[in-house]
Amino acid sequence: MKMTAGITNEIELIDHGARRDPSVASDGNGNDLCPVCGHAGASEWLRGPDRFHGRLEKYTLVRCPACSLVWLSHPPKPAEMNLHYTDAYHKLISASGENSPVRWKDRKAALKQWKQSGALLDMGCSSGSFLESLKGEPWKLYGIEMSAEGAKTAEVRSGAKVYVGDILNAPFARDSFDVITCFDVLEHLYEPRKIMARVGEWLKPGGVFYVLVPNVNSAEARAFGSYWHGLELPRHLFHYSPASLKFLAESAGLREVSLETRRNPAVGTSLRYVWDDVFRTVGIHQTPVAYRGEAGFPWRAARKVVRMTALRALLAMAPLVGGGESIHAIFQKEKTLA
Ligand SMILES: [Zn+2]
Repeated sequence: MKMTAGITNEIELIDHGARRDPSVASDGNGNDLCPVCGHAGASEWLRGPDRFHGRLEKYTLVRCPACSLVWLSHPPKPAEMNLHYTDAYHKLISASGENSPVRWKDRKAALKQWKQSGALLDMGCSSGSFLESLKGEPWKLYGIEMSAEGAKTAEVRSGAKVYVGDILNAPFARDSFDVITCFDVLEHLYEPRKIMARVGEWLKPGGVFYVLVPNVNSAEARAFGSYWHGLELPRHLFHYSPASLKFLAESAGLREVSLETRRNPAVGTSLRYVWDDVFRTVGIHQTPVAYRGEAGFPWRAARKVVRMTALRALLAMAPLVGGGESIHAIFQKEKTLA
């Protein structure tokens, strides 16, 4: 088992063995069964490419008629995923993590309504920006991170103990944590039911799970279709609505204590994807968003016009037609097991 230097076993470690293949169950006729609720009858929801990198291969998303989960049919295998997580992608993620004191302040305020101290695990902690924001407060901090480099940075800046590797292989014992956080990570993970079962197992009774995912049911997702930046094909494997996220959490014995949707200021990225395609139809190939710097003047002017007109009307309707682009949810493990 691979671990970062300096991790100690204040929380008892157990071995869950190697992770399994992320195959989706089939009904026997080759049709996917819903990986969250097990229902048959999923139908194609949309097809689209990786617009962030400007690649042409198209992916198919299917939707469960029962719980409304949307997922990537035939996703790349875990061993191929490094082709889709480029340096440009990592750069973008780390830049958005570093520039977010307001974001962490909001999330800490939301969390403090439920827990003020104890053992806290940040799943997919990246380079530890959120963990660092909790430094000096009465928390024992833990993280899980795939990248050894990110984990090491997180440990240094936050004092947290960070496990390097897959969440499903992390060796934490049952009833270890008062809080588990998972921000913009769950949608990237294979096998959501197993992940959520692990959350339910690791939380102490009464412990809370604070999760953020893009809202596939949002007004923006509906309006932009395959241009919606929240799709992040094929890096996002699962696309949640408030209903499917709640169903998933309940499958692991967690109950909703707070769930709301919020607007996301990154809507400009979806507009850029639309704009790029408009140019492409007249033979002008724009540099993909992944490799582009700050928006130039013509783009900024066009975006402003769109924002001032159609988009404003659309967003004003958001609460009526599925809510904002991101789901902020807090679930709690039952205090006593039946
Ligand atoms: Zn379902």
